[in-house]
Amino acid sequence: MTDCTEPRPSSDAADVTDPAGVAETTGVTVRAVVDALDARYPRNWAESWDRVGLVLGEFEHPVTRVLCVVDCVPETVDQALDLGADLIVAHHPLLLKPVSSIAPDTFKGALVHRLIRAGVALYTAHTNADVANPGVSDALAARLGLTGLRPLAPAEGAAAGEGRGLGRVGELSEPLTLARLAEFAAGRLPVTAAGVRAAGDPERLIRVLAVCGGAGDSFLADAARSGADAYLCADLRHHPVSEHLASGGPALVDVAHWATERPWLDEVAAWLREVFAVEVLVSDVDTDPWTVHANRNDLEISP
Ligand SMILES: [Zn+2]
Repeated sequence: MTDCTEPRPSSDAADVTDPAGVAETTGVTVRAVVDALDARYPRNWAESWDRVGLVLGEFEHPVTRVLCVVDCVPETVDQALDLGADLIVAHHPLLLKPVSSIAPDTFKGALVHRLIRAGVALYTAHTNADVANPGVSDALAARLGLTGLRPLAPAEGAAAGEGRGLGRVGELSEPLTLARLAEFAAGRLPVTAAGVRAAGDPERLIRVLAVCGGAGDSFLADAARSGADAYLCADLRHHPVSEHLASGGPALVDVAHWATERPWLDEVAAWLREVFAVEVLVSDVDTDPWTVHANRNDLEISP
């Protein structure tokens, strides 16, 4: 299973939450895992446009093996079925927008049919896992060794609370130039074809770094207010970046979306192993859509 971390069965079944009754094998049901995930990532912490929680699956179905993924796509569904997973915990919602059909000849409908036929439940924790403490950006910050973390955009409303919010700001263990920071991030984060690119003076010294798992350009102003020397996130675009830099904002580091959220899978998997006596696997299938990166400077040009 080269695409997975080694399964590590939990050592303690005593804390298993199973309000629905006793499952057939491990004593763990889909309902028990859903209840625990809902308690850790309450659904009302999600953004109003988001769609989180159980997507499909039988509540009383037993769970012996869980696969954590960023995206529920054919490749990760293949993996779940190959591994015999009973439950997929995904970061991105499969069904974010309303649909009028899940016919099997549609992309998403085919996945729904495959999962239901195989008896695999699907659960999503998205922006409710982003704002949580620990949340998606804590795992990203931990990969980069940041300390003294605080939220980049503190949570409001139902999600408001100690350390909760979108993104994190923290200190690097030692100052790095922007050019070195980009190399450092490329070395610490999961490898993707897109790699890491940075915007700003390559020699700028970075001590305080803001990070945000996933698309981050809606928090450029927060990053500027945070006092960070640089801001690392995904999906940055030409005009917002150039305008942000022109107005004196922190340097920017753009990372593949999948690579910024993949670290969270390890954190949620470790927590699930502590709570439940089930195997929890983490998918390393790179679901970033960018698969090719070319740079003329990298080419050996023959005369
Ligand atoms: Zn995302």
